[in-house]
Amino acid sequence: MEIELNLVPEEKRKAPDFENTKLPFGTIFTPHMFLMDYTIDEGWHSPRIVPFSEINLHPAAIVLHYSQTVFEGMKAYYGVDGKVRLFRPWDHINRLNRSADRLCIPKLNPDDVFEAIKTLVLLDKDWIPRKKGAALYIRPIIFATEGTLGLKPSKTYTFMIILAPVGAYYAEGFNPVKIYVTEEYIRACPGGTGDVKTGGNYAASLKAQQVACKKGYSQVLWLDAKEKKYVEEVGSMNIFFYFENELATPELTGSILPGVTRDSVLHLAKKLGIPAKERKISIEEVIEGIETGRLKESFGTGTAAVITPVGEICYKEKPYVINNGQTGELTKKFFDLITGIQYGEKEDEFGWTVVLE
Ligand SMILES: *Cc1c(COP(=O)(O)O)cnc(C)c1O
Repeated sequence: MEIELNLVPEEKRKAPDFENTKLPFGTIFTPHMFLMDYTIDEGWHSPRIVPFSEINLHPAAIVLHYSQTVFEGMKAYYGVDGKVRLFRPWDHINRLNRSADRLCIPKLNPDDVFEAIKTLVLLDKDWIPRKKGAALYIRPIIFATEGTLGLKPSKTYTFMIILAPVGAYYAEGFNPVKIYVTEEYIRACPGGTGDVKTGGNYAASLKAQQVACKKGYSQVLWLDAKEKKYVEEVGSMNIFFYFENELATPELTGSILPGVTRDSVLHLAKKLGIPAKERKISIEEVIEGIETGRLKESFGTGTAAVITPVGEICYKEKPYVINNGQTGELTKKFFDLITGIQYGEKEDEFGWTVVLE
């Protein structure tokens, strides 16, 4: 793939002083972005890196009206050895294509996506904060651009990658979150799009999130659509429960997003000799586990925060506190292991990281 370069003048590429800059998640962007277009005649074509800027869309672009779009979220890290690393990029790229297929979006050549990410990240590598915990968030997105109000798969698409430096999630130490079980709303249903990263899922989750926030909870714990009995995810993270002698996470039923961090925790648990199970977990089992002390710890997993300890669950308007609202030992251990690998401090025995330079 031949990427055309239209670069910002050198003097306008200077990264901010990250030591003294606040980085609220996804609000500051690097000087460049990657674009590539799709038409039926030419397929994916015109890969290019251009100055970060607004984009033009037809007012009837299908993405605006019918949400034909998919995205990914991954990160580039400056390691303690000064090398730039990606964490499991091929898993993210393959998931992007699985999401695309579900939304009738033409697949991308995985090698081209990798090359696009690599070229863009290295071009703007001064924008990767060097602090442990901080990183460069990578957001690839594909969206339907054909201008028509007819409901059908678009004939044209744009693939775009933007980069946002992000600060350490836990700069002031671990802060367990309080989560609210919603029985009113659901995130995803069997046969729906819950297992892919597409915009509509997140738009549909905002209302429940707002209700939870008003009640003083920062995330929603989602139950299954059919019986409202089994735990599925927390916010936009996968969820784990550490019961006496067993680490459990909901099995992938088709309405749960198969997280890369989730998979990493499952692999690490096996290595640590902790019995880890993907299975059905009812909300009753969780609440009973808290009441009897059988549930020791709980945490969410996702690229943005890596591991988020859960300190309290509100179910049927009643709060239940886990591990005295403190971060558990195992939760902390997974955080340290995964970030250790991401920042090149710990041996990467699973071959998860890819060094770019
Ligand atoms: C992205 C995402 C996750 C986490 O996936 P990672 O690959 O670990 O970042 C979990 N749930 C939902 C709904 C998501 O969108």
